Amino acid sequence: MRSAIRRVASAALDALCPERCAACGVVVATHDLFCHACRDAVNVLGPPECERCGRPLAVGAACAPCVLEDGAIRQARAFARYETGVVGHPVARALHAFKYAGTWRFAARLAAAMLTRVPATQAAGAPLVVPVPLHPARLRARGYNQSAMLARHIARARRWPIVLTLLVRTRDTPSQTALTAAARRANVADAFAVRHPGAARERAILLVDDVWTSGATAHAAVAALRRDGARVVDVLTFARVADPRYETGT
Ligand SMILES: [Zn+2]
Ligand SMILES: [Zn+2]
Repeated sequence: MRSAIRRVASAALDALCPERCAACGVVVATHDLFCHACRDAVNVLGPPECERCGRPLAVGAACAPCVLEDGAIRQARAFARYETGVVGHPVARALHAFKYAGTWRFAARLAAAMLTRVPATQAAGAPLVVPVPLHPARLRARGYNQSAMLARHIARARRWPIVLTLLVRTRDTPSQTALTAAARRANVADAFAVRHPGAARERAILLVDDVWTSGATAHAAVAALRRDGARVVDVLTFARVADPRYETGT
């Protein structure tokens, strides 16, 4: 009887306040992130890809930058490709709505998509889930940290521990949109710190962010975690730019 009431209540709620496509806003089934048309335009990421950073690859196990990298990030994975050359692409529209238009209602469905791409190395045990923080000034202006919302849903779904404020942003960095990859790295270098020194020591950490563009933000955040003694750090984002123009020059 109780489950029948719950079904009726849930159907009533869906009718009053239906879920909408995160990109174009048409009504969709309760758990769908995109409508069929938008979903068809989304490139879901998966193998073959760099075993380390998740960059789509035609051949080989690791991309050239990862072979040369310091290895601070064990594995980075994303759900969908962020198309840089397509105006109004569904992935960009969904993230923009989520980040700037206050449509935090998308958080659960964005996180559900990300859960399909949790780095395989996490199978070894429960990591500590940590979101990439916003600078306090930006948090005040926006009212919420989109990465923290995603991290919360991911931690809850897997029953993993989460510390929302493990990392702090010590510098408010200018917008990165117009910068080259090398400039992005310089822009965010040393922009993060562990709030209570030693909190990351010996921990396996899953760092959560909404988008991986050049990897500069993730690298800077991971560097702070590793300086504090984190054992391993994996990175999970909803989207990932896979455009060489944004990635070279690192
Ligand atoms: Zn749509
Ligand atoms: Zn790579």
